[in-house]
Amino acid sequence: MHKTRLYIAGAFVAPQAQGYFPAIDPATEAPFAEVAAGQAADIDRAVRAAREAFDTGIWSELSGTSRAAMLRLVAQGLRARLAEIAALEVRDNGKPLPEAEWDVGDAAFAFDYYADLAEARDSDPEEPVDVGDARFAATIRREPLGVVAAITPWNFPLLMAVWKVAPALAAGCTIVLKPSELCSLSCEVLAQIIHAAGIPPGVFNLVTGTGPEAGQPLADHPLIDKVAFTGSVATGRKVMMAAAAGIRTVALELGGKSPFVIFADCDLDKAVEWILFGIFWNKGEVCSATSRVLVERSLYPALLARLQQATEAIPIGAGSMPGVKLGPIVSQGQYDKICAAIAAGKASGARLVTGGDRPEGLTRGYFLRPTIFADVPTDSALWREEIFGPVVCVNPFDTEAEAVAEANDSAYGLAGAVMSDDLQRCERVARKLRAGIIWVNCSQPTFTQLPWGGVKASGIGRELGRAGFEAYFETKQITRFDSRQTWGWYLGRDA
Ligand code: NAD
Repeated sequence: MHKTRLYIAGAFVAPQAQGYFPAIDPATEAPFAEVAAGQAADIDRAVRAAREAFDTGIWSELSGTSRAAMLRLVAQGLRARLAEIAALEVRDNGKPLPEAEWDVGDAAFAFDYYADLAEARDSDPEEPVDVGDARFAATIRREPLGVVAAITPWNFPLLMAVWKVAPALAAGCTIVLKPSELCSLSCEVLAQIIHAAGIPPGVFNLVTGTGPEAGQPLADHPLIDKVAFTGSVATGRKVMMAAAAGIRTVALELGGKSPFVIFADCDLDKAVEWILFGIFWNKGEVCSATSRVLVERSLYPALLARLQQATEAIPIGAGSMPGVKLGPIVSQGQYDKICAAIAAGKASGARLVTGGDRPEGLTRGYFLRPTIFADVPTDSALWREEIFGPVVCVNPFDTEAEAVAEANDSAYGLAGAVMSDDLQRCERVARKLRAGIIWVNCSQPTFTQLPWGGVKASGIGRELGRAGFEAYFETKQITRFDSRQTWGWYLGRDA
């Protein structure tokens, strides 16, 4: 069985304590690899390697063009191994193969995209600023902020890592990546590709391991400059507390319970298509999943009937099987959490329209039928808390104002979607929804060029786009006094 390795200071190594835990295929419940269980000592070595690589300037002082050339090699490496990585991701996470292929393609694109931004920065490293006094020449410089700790989740194991690694490396930072213990394997391949691209030792480091044993020591480490975290609110809070103790920059991409407002004037099939994609792609294990659907009352019965029929027709099975659109839940633990949320949902008085149990014939693997609840009490956990699985709540509304108020009545604010043939109405609602990401007449399409992140409990900061690049710089002002001039406050003008 394959035993993964850590990647520290340019070398693939075993964890110091020689500990391993199994990688489980969620479609069969069988272990298929042994994952290196890094601990505090491994984290310390990795952070010190990243610190040294940053401080010596072997990466941060290269031109953006030189860094870009290596990042483009990483993009090429990902494309060359796309089929292999996608198959690995399916085995580790359970997602349908075409969705895993999208992830790898998007990851490669992100390296190319941030290579372009690194290159562009070369021609524009400093911005002159007129301070209104001719004796001073001032500029603003953007400098790489240092050593980044990246802690990532299991739902898009490669892509969530790349959303941090690509812009951080492009900016000139060095990084220690700690992926989720549930899905670590694609990040080992990423390390191999980064190594083959010739990125200098210590610039990128990978330590796999559990949250408490590897994640927490990484977040706590005094030699890091920034923690970039994607995961749950509960862990995000711990990471932020660690950052507070060390007064370090922190970026948090957390959960959501995103609303999708559907008006009665829209095409029924188009609405159903986007509702399905909004909650069932990637098994609903999507932070931006539109898991609360609000439907204008006159369309509500017809939409529910069509949605039920289409949901019951979704092909379920191992992600590697052709035609499958819903794979197994990632792990036994996540499966149990989702089942508990469904049981609590039933007890809350919500109406279970379909799903909520194991599909017939699939006795092995963490399979769950896609689930619809209707008429959900809006004070229930089912309506208010993230489930992170293929469970959607659907409720009716009467007026636009009511829909917007209901949509915004959430602790979260990651995403929101609106669908109507009246585009002016869509624009109005888009502006009123309190979230970082709004989709009009669709739900979920995500582009590397656009900023990603949420408000309220959904997090702090933005990834992707230009904002995701700027997040890895510090701002420095340089104020130059004309030495031919005299300041003359203490010594007088003629001194
Ligand atoms: P999680 O919080 O359980 O784990 C995330 C990462 O944190 C893992 O690598 C884990 O090992 C690590 N970790 C756990 N305890 C830690 C600790 N004490 N200190 C430091 N690190 C620790 O989240 P998850 O279950 O892997 O992912 C699901 C969550 O991620 C959902 O809430 C989802 O909404 C969110 N998510 C958000 C986005 C986004 O962009 N906003 C994207 C994907 C997932």
